[in-house]
Amino acid sequence: MSDISTEKVKCLIIGSGPAGYTAAIYASRANLKPLLFEGLQPGGQLTTTTEVENFPGYPQGVTGPEMMEDLKKQAERFGADIRFGIATKVDFSGPIHKVWIDDNKLIEADSVIIATGATAKYLGLESEEKFKGTGVSACATCDGFFYRGKDVVVAGGGDTACEEAVYLAGLCNKVYLVVRKDFLRASKAMQERVFKTKNIEVLFQHTTKEIVGDMSGVTGVLLTNKNNEEVHISIHGFFVAIGHQPNSEVFKPWVKTDEVGYIETVPGTCKTNISGVFACGDVQDKHYRQAITAAGSGCMAAIDAERYISEKN
Ligand SMILES: Cc1cc2nc3c(=O)[nH]c(=O)nc-3n(C[C@H](O)[C@H](O)[C@H](O)COP(=O)(O)OP(=O)(O)OC[C@H]3O[C@@H](n4cnc5c(N)ncnc54)[C@H](O)[C@@H]3O)c2cc1C
Repeated sequence: MSDISTEKVKCLIIGSGPAGYTAAIYASRANLKPLLFEGLQPGGQLTTTTEVENFPGYPQGVTGPEMMEDLKKQAERFGADIRFGIATKVDFSGPIHKVWIDDNKLIEADSVIIATGATAKYLGLESEEKFKGTGVSACATCDGFFYRGKDVVVAGGGDTACEEAVYLAGLCNKVYLVVRKDFLRASKAMQERVFKTKNIEVLFQHTTKEIVGDMSGVTGVLLTNKNNEEVHISIHGFFVAIGHQPNSEVFKPWVKTDEVGYIETVPGTCKTNISGVFACGDVQDKHYRQAITAAGSGCMAAIDAERYISEKN
């Protein structure tokens, strides 16, 4: 323990997606001198996508990596201290919050903003990996627009899959909902919306064997039905909707989460159950999971942290 260095800060931000960088912009401008650790994926989820067309302020669209570089530069312009490092352990038992970085550095912070995001679950197929970004997506709101008038598959049988299918049905020619079981796990109301939508076809007891494509991207999908027969469907988009995993594991001993792992916040704020610890972005948002909502809640978290610190002093 003795070779662990210790640093004291007013505001520690964990995560470098739209939520973390926006929190850093607001916290620096409020003179909180934030220290931000980027984690394993500097820039967050958007660094894995090419086109972002729905973030306000970019009339021609922007690539994900470019946009995240802009957000980082904006935070640095106001003095945010941005470093590479992963939060590996926390102790939120006292008024000073302790966070260990890479197991070799201890940060003692008056306030902590958790912005560690969530990770979409994928089926685990090689072809899925190959066509990520050129036909395979885990976000209909983000990418559905690119498949207007085309045929797509949504894989999954829960509420999210049904929601994505209904959303895509409003844009696409035809949506195949591929469900492993012989029933949908979604709520009754959601199921009714699916069955009422004319251009959704539910394929029960089908599993995805392979996503097929060429240089242009996805061109089809190979499914297996309950009799183990192969079924080929021509499509252009394959949407995986089997859930997300919030990156909250390290905070769980202290911070309250729901059964999936989303951090619970007081409605209308970013306050967690621990005084002085705030959460923003996808790690606390199971409904919207968009860059703009993550950025918005990053702003809220920084304002909450500033008010918390000024009330304490
Ligand atoms: C392929 C793809 C395309 C998308 N396209 C769009 C789009 O077009 N428009 C849109 O609005 N949204 C889009 N999204 C969704 C959007 O990316 C997310 O809603 C948004 O990035 C969430 O921001 P966040 O800051 O909460 O978390 P994230 O972007 O997930 O960032 C989380 C950050 O936390 C860090 N981290 C995690 N654990 C730790 C730890 N222990 N210690 C330190 N750091 C840690 C990670 O390194 C990362 O930097 C897309 C998502 C994907 C995957």
